[in-house]
Amino acid sequence: MMYTPAQRWVALAYGLVSHTLFLAAVGVMFVSLYEGLHLSLLHLHGWAAAVGDVILVLQFGLGHSLLLSDQGRRWLARMAPLGLGRELSTTVFAGLASLQLLITFLLWSSSKVLWAAPEGWVKGGLSVLYGISWLLLAKSMSDAGLDVQVGSIGWHSVWRGHAPVFRPFARTGLFRYSRQPIYSSFTLILWTAPVWTPDHLLIAMLWTLYCVGAPVWKEKRYLRFYGQAYARYQAVVPYWFPGRKGRDMSFPTEPSIPAVHDAEVIVIGGGPVGMALACLLGGRGVRVLVVEKRGALPSHSQAIGITPPTLAILSELGLDEAFIGQGLPIHDCHVHGESGALGIASFRQIPGQYPFILSLPQQISMRLLADKLALYPSVKMLRGVEVVSVEQTGDAVTVGLKDEAGVITIRSAAYAVGCDGHRSRVRDLLRMRSRRYDYGHHFVMGDFQDRTALGGEAHLFFTAQGAVESFPLPGGLRRWIVQTKQPEAEPPAGFISEVVRMRSGHIIAPEDQVNQSAFSPWRLDCEQLYDGRVILCGDAAHVMSPIGGQGMNTGFADAEFAALMLHAILRQGQQAGPWLAEYDRCRRKASNTAATRAALGMGLGTWRGKGMSWLRDRLLRHLILRGPMAGIVGPWFAMMTIPFNRAAKSRFVATYMTGNCTEKSQPESRLAFQEESQG
Ligand SMILES: Cc1cc2nc3c(=O)[nH]c(=O)nc-3n(C[C@H](O)[C@H](O)[C@H](O)COP(=O)(O)OP(=O)(O)OC[C@H]3O[C@@H](n4cnc5c(N)ncnc54)[C@H](O)[C@@H]3O)c2cc1C
Repeated sequence: MMYTPAQRWVALAYGLVSHTLFLAAVGVMFVSLYEGLHLSLLHLHGWAAAVGDVILVLQFGLGHSLLLSDQGRRWLARMAPLGLGRELSTTVFAGLASLQLLITFLLWSSSKVLWAAPEGWVKGGLSVLYGISWLLLAKSMSDAGLDVQVGSIGWHSVWRGHAPVFRPFARTGLFRYSRQPIYSSFTLILWTAPVWTPDHLLIAMLWTLYCVGAPVWKEKRYLRFYGQAYARYQAVVPYWFPGRKGRDMSFPTEPSIPAVHDAEVIVIGGGPVGMALACLLGGRGVRVLVVEKRGALPSHSQAIGITPPTLAILSELGLDEAFIGQGLPIHDCHVHGESGALGIASFRQIPGQYPFILSLPQQISMRLLADKLALYPSVKMLRGVEVVSVEQTGDAVTVGLKDEAGVITIRSAAYAVGCDGHRSRVRDLLRMRSRRYDYGHHFVMGDFQDRTALGGEAHLFFTAQGAVESFPLPGGLRRWIVQTKQPEAEPPAGFISEVVRMRSGHIIAPEDQVNQSAFSPWRLDCEQLYDGRVILCGDAAHVMSPIGGQGMNTGFADAEFAALMLHAILRQGQQAGPWLAEYDRCRRKASNTAATRAALGMGLGTWRGKGMSWLRDRLLRHLILRGPMAGIVGPWFAMMTIPFNRAAKSRFVATYMTGNCTEKSQPESRLAFQEESQG
């Protein structure tokens, strides 16, 4: 833990105070405005009342802006004890802003003049508008990140034992239509409250001026901090009033000036997903440059499970047979608990050509893809070259490449795809927002020469001490994954063998172990999978628990969709906007579902202790692996029921694939391709 118990309790106390103030402020403002500011604890009269009220209005605006300035931030950082100033600054800010609102409405001196208090349907209509304005405010705060807006990110991070991680500026939800939806919906609230009094008019006018003017300073700060990424956002989304240009954040489909680029598409990252995408594009004749920072293919294995939808995608490349030839089909997964065998999740009933999950170490999958990629004349691969910058103009993406000697060159393309894995540089460079969640589970895995009698099937052992998973690999090997209580950076020799023996009774000799690694699953979801002319695929777009074996498979489905999309845009002149929106919708839905399922499976398997183990055994034996449910579990794990596991499941894409779409034009590519040395 990074924080002492005292620090954590202080953080919790700050959170409680701040959130109580927030709820009180929202409640008091809602009622007071609705009633025309008649509520008051202070009863000043005449000039004193007028001056007092103006001071109340100004203190909110000025105080708010001051605290958001650089100096204000320094003050905020001093407002918490035990060295927690920085961590709790958002919590303190939210608390102070709430206090300012509370003071304004509670100490307001009412003029006691009533101009209009509508009744009947007029009041009803205005009340509905008032309610909608509040909902818009809630939605825009949630789009901006509710945890930052209400200040929970500060205290909650400390409570969980890590420093707060702030995400870049928001671009999704209402932020697609206006750069300042919080300020504009707040203003809407001021003008839709039904009862009109001089007090209401004063507060509505002054705070509207504030809401329109103050974000200008905020944007200056953002420009300083986020640079080109924010400038691009400003160029496509209106400042305050939702406007037309906000509907489509993508750039024009066709370059306005015929451009000379190094490729039509630059694929950043030559992992399994990047190479699959390059092959799928190469098969359509699209000119692709793949840039990979590693000088050679990796020799270690991560992914082993290849699902039927992925095999179907590989069949499009003519690679399914090669994969199956090198791999080992798993037809059944046997599940064991404390009370013995619990049941079988079978893949045998999966319809189609591939009624199994294929076990194939990732390095072999990558070699097969690399061999295939070398056959496409329109695809070039640069190895040992790292992408260090990504910039966009209306017509192109330019990418800065650093080679092993440190020499930087610039390449440009009409589109770039970030396939650069879970620590995506592309995502960071473009300040694309994502949310990370650590599950707090830990595993160690190793591949062993297989001398057990477990055969060609998978076996899961769920015990009170933790889980053990075991999968056959081609070449007479078997992978063992054991759950551990703590992260085990460097487990001692024989660690896996000992844990496997204790939990499953199987004897695997330490001398038979060929590799070992440890991992702690986490999840990452991106708010949007594209930004202008840059698209994210694979782990760059989503990270999910490896327990479940879905990450790479989801990445292959991203690649299939992205290849169809880029071909349609580049070669058939179709509009980029609708395609990108559909890609974003389908692929986020698919990856959310896959990640949630992976987490559910991991969650159930990692319950520890006698009681939980007893409960899990009953659930699995009598409910999940029995009767009609048993027939669902196999296809569930094989990703047959993931929405959009094939691109054609989107009606939009299916229309394109059957050729029924209206194509604007079918221009030959106007992009020149410069020869690259093949890596
Ligand atoms: C233990 C474990 C087991 C797993 N098992 C399974 C499984 O059974 N089934 C499954 O579907 N998934 C599984 N996964 C997940 C799977 O490994 C990943 O989802 C998959 O590797 C993602 O592929 P990718 O191409 O998107 O990213 P990566 O494999 O991470 O490849 C990214 C590539 O980009 C390159 N790169 C990075 N930055 C740059 C840069 N700036 N410039 C140029 N190149 C760059 C990297 O060198 C790398 O080659 C497992 C993961 C783990 C950790």
